[in-house]
Amino acid sequence: MSDVGTTIIGAGVVGLAVAAKLSETRGAIIVLEKNEKYGLETSSRNSEVIHAGIYYKPGSLKAKLCVEGRDEIYALCRKHNIAHKQITKLITATDTEELKKLESIYHNGLKNGVPLELMDRAATLKLEPNINTVGSIYSPLTGNVSAHELMDCFYHTFLENGGTLQLRCEVVAIEKLGSGYRMTINEEGRQSTFTSETLVNAAGLYADKIAALAGIDIDQAGYRQFFAKGSYFAVVPSKAKLVSRLVYPVPRDEGLGVHALLDWAGRLKFGPDVEYLQDSKFEYTVEESKRAVFAQSIRRILPAINDEDITPDMSGIRAKLQRKGDPPKDFIIAHEREKGLEGFVNLLGIDSPGLTSSPAIARYVESLLS
Ligand SMILES: Cc1cc2nc3c(=O)[nH]c(=O)nc-3n(C[C@H](O)[C@H](O)[C@H](O)COP(=O)(O)OP(=O)(O)OC[C@H]3O[C@@H](n4cnc5c(N)ncnc54)[C@H](O)[C@@H]3O)c2cc1C
Repeated sequence: MSDVGTTIIGAGVVGLAVAAKLSETRGAIIVLEKNEKYGLETSSRNSEVIHAGIYYKPGSLKAKLCVEGRDEIYALCRKHNIAHKQITKLITATDTEELKKLESIYHNGLKNGVPLELMDRAATLKLEPNINTVGSIYSPLTGNVSAHELMDCFYHTFLENGGTLQLRCEVVAIEKLGSGYRMTINEEGRQSTFTSETLVNAAGLYADKIAALAGIDIDQAGYRQFFAKGSYFAVVPSKAKLVSRLVYPVPRDEGLGVHALLDWAGRLKFGPDVEYLQDSKFEYTVEESKRAVFAQSIRRILPAINDEDITPDMSGIRAKLQRKGDPPKDFIIAHEREKGLEGFVNLLGIDSPGLTSSPAIARYVESLLS
């Protein structure tokens, strides 16, 4: 008999969503988090966009869980009074070549069941008179949500259902037992062990390390994560009203492209770019030296922005399953039964749209464990 029924490693938005869901039926659940508070890593360093589900490969987990999660997030926001806004979004093409790409994005979105509208230049400029455009996609279901309030909501649900969040508690070893797992945890230098029947790995940037601790060969399994930093720049207040919704470019390289977003303080920001890291030393400074390149990317969408109108703001780091230049990979969410790890669920490569998908990911994990 294990000490605990279910343990979740990681208290980001995904771990907390899974904890809230599983606590409905599985009773007391423990969440282990190495930091002093929940949600201090990727879940609080992102665009806070409720993605509609436009770009992801039809049939993929990203497409399915994003579309489901989007609707669940709006419903949760209404029910629990979580700060959110269905602010809507435009993807703007800036030349005829991009118009072709725009059409293929539009059809991809329709395949995912996302309501979208193609707009010509005149219709686009009626919505956003200051942007550079020859035509656009209008997405009425895209919005934004306070990631902190969403995490608070998951946390309180899980707490009300008898859950425990153990902070400053890092998982440093995992051993498979005949039934369940023995975990070694490090709490500010003190090591101890306990056993858990079921284990969910929602460790974000460290999820591949946790999978390796459980004995999985992460290279053979395709579980190694690569890290892509995304930086943001904020626009001076005098130019913050130049757009009134999210405005994205047609993606050129990796990522969705540096786009316009409005934060909860009413500031206009642009980001995130994509900068693959050489190692896993996670560092969040936004380099001033990026200013000129950033301003140039912004002017693709909003020509009125000068280099001196922007200042370095925040950054976040994505856990990706593909190396720089390779095609995007889907989320990995797997019950590792076939690897001899009954009751162990891995979540890897939970980059965007992980925030949007979080409630749907939680239901998916529950289905894998039932
Ligand atoms: C720049 C950027 C922009 C993004 N924009 C959006 C967006 O607009 N919309 C959207 O839907 N998604 C977006 N995303 C993606 C989204 O932020 C992530 O998918 C989501 O936050 C991942 O949550 P998580 O819980 O998996 O990871 P995290 O938030 O990183 O949480 C993992 C937790 O595990 C803990 N942990 C790790 N190892 C251990 C251990 N050994 N022991 C104990 N605890 C451990 C960590 O401390 C951390 O708190 C963006 C991501 C980035 C980087």
